[in-house]
Amino acid sequence: MEKNDKILVCGAGGFIGGHLITYLKRQGFKYIKGVDSKPLETWCQIDPDVDVLVTDLKTEEACNAVVKDMNCIFNLAADMGGMGFIEKNKALCMLNVLINTHLLCAARKYQIKEFFFASSACVYAEEKQRTADVAPLKEIDAYPAMPEDGYGWEKLFSERMCRHFYEDFGLGVRIARFHNIYGPLGTYFGGREKAPAAIARKIAEAKICGKEEIEIWGDGRQTRSFTFIDDCLEGIHLLMESDFHDPINIGSNELVTINELTNIVEEHAGTKLNRRYNLDAPKAVNGRNSDNTLVRKVLNWEPGTTLREGMKKTYEWIYDEIIAHGIPS
Ligand code: NAD
Repeated sequence: MEKNDKILVCGAGGFIGGHLITYLKRQGFKYIKGVDSKPLETWCQIDPDVDVLVTDLKTEEACNAVVKDMNCIFNLAADMGGMGFIEKNKALCMLNVLINTHLLCAARKYQIKEFFFASSACVYAEEKQRTADVAPLKEIDAYPAMPEDGYGWEKLFSERMCRHFYEDFGLGVRIARFHNIYGPLGTYFGGREKAPAAIARKIAEAKICGKEEIEIWGDGRQTRSFTFIDDCLEGIHLLMESDFHDPINIGSNELVTINELTNIVEEHAGTKLNRRYNLDAPKAVNGRNSDNTLVRKVLNWEPGTTLREGMKKTYEWIYDEIIAHGIPS
């Protein structure tokens, strides 16, 4: 990417898209346009110097209109959320295929140089994630395919479509498999929030209201790795500067149980709460971690922020939000 390239960020009102615009501006990229379907007042952040547009990217017309005249496309637009959302909205998640399909076709039509697709660790085959002491997932572990129903299948299909647009039409695609990205300015209530934000919110609420108990989804022994937003942005940038066109993990390999994640947040909050385990809540696979062998080799990089550092910033932001705006209903 060149500093004078015209860059389109799709999903700019969302958590990662909003941070990406701020990051790219800081890196000196001059012409950035942000597009999202949700009303401007609900965007996670808006840079006053960036061109913004509210439009639904599920249609061919909308994608043609925004892609024309651009040089680089970042597709971070998707109807998604944490497990609570994706387990109950599989059809909506599958419909995200329309966004990526029309964006790819428009990118081909207008001969766009570079195209980034935000894929997910949810593409990995279920059978490789059955136990909490899971082996870290290598990129090849997505096949034979049996990804997360709905959301994961759409991501895997769209990854392959990106690959064939590269092979057949020469479009410069980059495909990142994000592993649980978290940080300030993300969704922390309303049903689409993910585990780090949900746990930080519950602990902040308990502290503010003097409650002694929080609910944890599952038995707390399921494992995950969580990637701080700053690492995610750095990974995206390095990937775009590389010549690598296959899917690649952008994820921390610091494996923790949900109980350990909760301990970390409690330490930051200076509190210790009783835990009520909700075994009926969606909890997805028992274990998931990122194998970073390929990303170290290709980008000479891997995420460096510890969960303790990242969760401190995230907890403090959520705590301040609740103090400023009240307990979310
Ligand atoms: P987000 O929900 O905060 O942002 C996605 C944005 O896309 C939202 O603002 C939404 O309004 C917008 N959008 C949805 N449908 C649209 C449409 N039809 N037209 C235009 N905009 C539309 O999510 P995020 O956490 O910022 O994730 C960004 C991307 O990264 C998504 O593709 C997501 O699937 C992927 N991803 C995220 C994570 C994570 O942990 N955050 C993990 C794996 C993959």
